[in-house]
Amino acid sequence: MTVYLDNAAATPIDNRVKKEMSRSMDLCGNPSSFNDGGRAARVQTEQARAQIARFINARPEEIVFTSSGSEANNTAIFGVADKFRSGHIISTAIEHPSVLEPIGKLAGEGFKIDLVSVDAEGFVNPRNILNLIKKDTVLISVMYANNEIGTIEPIREIGKLLKEYRSKLPLSARNRGPLFHVDACQATEYLNMNVHELGVDFLTFNGSKIYGPKGIGVLYVKRDLEIKPLILGGNQERGRRAGTENTAAILGLAKAISLINKKENKKLPKLQDYFISNILKKISDVRLNGPKKNRLPNNINISIFGVGNEEILLQLDKHGIHAGSGSACTSHAVEPSHVLKAIGVPKKYLNGAIRFSLGRQTIKKDIDYVLKVLPKVIEKCRSLR
Ligand SMILES: *Cc1c(COP(=O)(O)O)cnc(C)c1O
Repeated sequence: MTVYLDNAAATPIDNRVKKEMSRSMDLCGNPSSFNDGGRAARVQTEQARAQIARFINARPEEIVFTSSGSEANNTAIFGVADKFRSGHIISTAIEHPSVLEPIGKLAGEGFKIDLVSVDAEGFVNPRNILNLIKKDTVLISVMYANNEIGTIEPIREIGKLLKEYRSKLPLSARNRGPLFHVDACQATEYLNMNVHELGVDFLTFNGSKIYGPKGIGVLYVKRDLEIKPLILGGNQERGRRAGTENTAAILGLAKAISLINKKENKKLPKLQDYFISNILKKISDVRLNGPKKNRLPNNINISIFGVGNEEILLQLDKHGIHAGSGSACTSHAVEPSHVLKAIGVPKKYLNGAIRFSLGRQTIKKDIDYVLKVLPKVIEKCRSLR
């Protein structure tokens, strides 16, 4: 039996997306070329752009296609930095590395940085962010939902407070920011992505977390906000990102978005509750990391005292259960997760964290299988100590 529970790292591609992509691979033209092939590719890319824009209640010209969520995050952060040249940036201690590392680089280039702390469940307090705003704050970047522990951040509240704050600025200062960027890669499948209701200036999402293709990302850039591109060399994406469009991935992403079914996802909280309550019942010395409420419905992150997560993951893999350690990008590092440290997970629980992330394909039988195997695996690992 194979049970895939690493959907927060990458979702399996939907067959309908695959089909759409293989169809679009026959669109051989370059969307920028003035010939029939190019035109056909352009028409379909632009249809996809319009559809993706509608999904977040934006305009087509506000959509910038990138190679990934990471590139979209980098584009927003470095784009704003390049625009203002100096200033103050606010973010959080639990962001994805593709936000934290660009911000770290800017710290080395003279930008002043404040990373707000989060509470024990990973929540940011919107007031704490507002209190940090200075005259020269150019950017605020807060993730919509955390990839390791599933905490859903109060983006709407932050957006609202920011709007109030900006409305009190003199007209001449309003263009200076602070601009609001949100990394929504983990949220796209489950949460409200309406950019106007959220009050964001930039929004990042990608294909690989929504049963779409890997290697495609979107940066929403609010109208009239000019930012400098990361990649130079062509006028694609209205001069905001050079390079021939990845037609197949763009059409695949649009298809994946059309398949998001918030109703279908309603089965997940039940499975999640069932999983969590049974793990806490069946295994001793285990801790749930992250919140009880306002948590992504697919995320379960637990720490097991006395065993390293690599050992457990290896054993689970042998039983056909594919889970993750929480952060796909740092899973090879020995350093404990920056997110678990930020929420103050006690030291004895830092090394045994495992993330099970459910998906569309997950059924109760899968969970029952894990609930049968996991206690045995842990018992075995513990007995070897
Ligand atoms: C996956 C992920 C990213 C990176 O997306 P890629 O397309 O893999 O570059 C960024 N932020 C969050 C929250 C993610 O979950």
